Amino acid sequence: MIDMKRFYHIVLLILLLTHFAVQAREYTVESVPNVQVAHRDRHVSDPENFLGNEAHNRINVMLSQLRDSNSVEAAVVVLPSIGNNDIDNFATELFTHWGIGKAANDNGLLIIAVMDQRQIVLRTGYGLEGVLPDITCSRIIRQYITPAFRDGNYGQGMTEAVEQILHIVMNPEASSELMADETQRGFHIDQSDKEILLNILYVYLALSVILSLLLTIRLNRTIRQYRNEPYECYKELNNSQTLLIITAIFFPLWCAFNLARCQRTMKQMREQPRDCPQCKATMERLSEEQDNHYLTPQEDAEERVGSVDYDVWKCSQCDNVEVFRFDNNTQYQECPHCHAKTYSLAHDRIVTQATTLSAGRGEKIYTCYYCKLRKVVPYIIPMIVVPKSGSGGGGGSFGGGFGGGMTGGGGARGGW
Ligand SMILES: [Zn+2]
Ligand SMILES: [Zn+2]
Repeated sequence: MIDMKRFYHIVLLILLLTHFAVQAREYTVESVPNVQVAHRDRHVSDPENFLGNEAHNRINVMLSQLRDSNSVEAAVVVLPSIGNNDIDNFATELFTHWGIGKAANDNGLLIIAVMDQRQIVLRTGYGLEGVLPDITCSRIIRQYITPAFRDGNYGQGMTEAVEQILHIVMNPEASSELMADETQRGFHIDQSDKEILLNILYVYLALSVILSLLLTIRLNRTIRQYRNEPYECYKELNNSQTLLIITAIFFPLWCAFNLARCQRTMKQMREQPRDCPQCKATMERLSEEQDNHYLTPQEDAEERVGSVDYDVWKCSQCDNVEVFRFDNNTQYQECPHCHAKTYSLAHDRIVTQATTLSAGRGEKIYTCYYCKLRKVVPYIIPMIVVPKSGSGGGGGSFGGGFGGGMTGGGGARGGW
């Protein structure tokens, strides 16, 4: 029995050992070796040597040069695993934990690759975001890291990426070259988008033509129907004008043409000479001054505020007078007391201001130009609602061999 128990213990131990051997070692922010502390010219923390010694040496030389010439502090980290942690968060936390970059200008740069996740993140400090914007970081990953890492050439991919970063930081115009390349590539992808846009344009043009034809037909029918009644015709056209204005917003070219025609016809209908309904003689339109004599004081008031135009036609033979009313679009409404179209909002004032604790009160004062009616309409102003503001993120600690710089989470993430 005792032997059996010992046997189980040995099996369990072997299982545990093989488990650890097979599974990649998991690193935490605290357990990643900070090589800067050991030596100021060491910038690559690659405990399992994925990149190879040659790449380590070349990257160390380049990043020391970058620090000496541009005071940019950079670190390259290659880890077998960080468990189930998110690489983006890990990068930001490690950046802050080490304090990469000079505290004064936050010009730190961290490149971290996690092998079991096949993910890489380029994290920049605030001070580097200008020269190395996110789009540039993303481009570096896609152009130098992804293809090489996919083929297992980790050392080559990382060395080329660092070379490119060095090149950009030392000559900022190189960044625009990289971007020019990007936009050229983007253009080819956009070909299908262009076709979609073209199709939308065709549908739009077809709809415009159909709508324009329908409106033309409608307009012609109205004019034909009311040929002998110019005043009725005018009113009908005035109604369809609203529809034309709305459609002209969406189909300006075609509907504007119909709108212009509609307005021209309306003008014609209004000015067209008409026959006296009593003696069939030709009537004459009176001028604005002459027609006042034939208008009621109410109509005269409406004409004075401009809410309505009255055309007065007088027969030269039998003195018969015909008055035609043309409503204008103004702020005036019909008065609830005298029914003249001379009623409008005169004042809108706040009686008590709304606060965060209570609603406010206001009043609208309407007056009638003709009958001098004054009407006060009170209303409620809703209480002020202040949106709840979110809390900001925490700061980072300084330490390690780096200068205490911080990151705003700038950079990019990619995979292979
Ligand atoms: Zn007459
Ligand atoms: Zn009135």
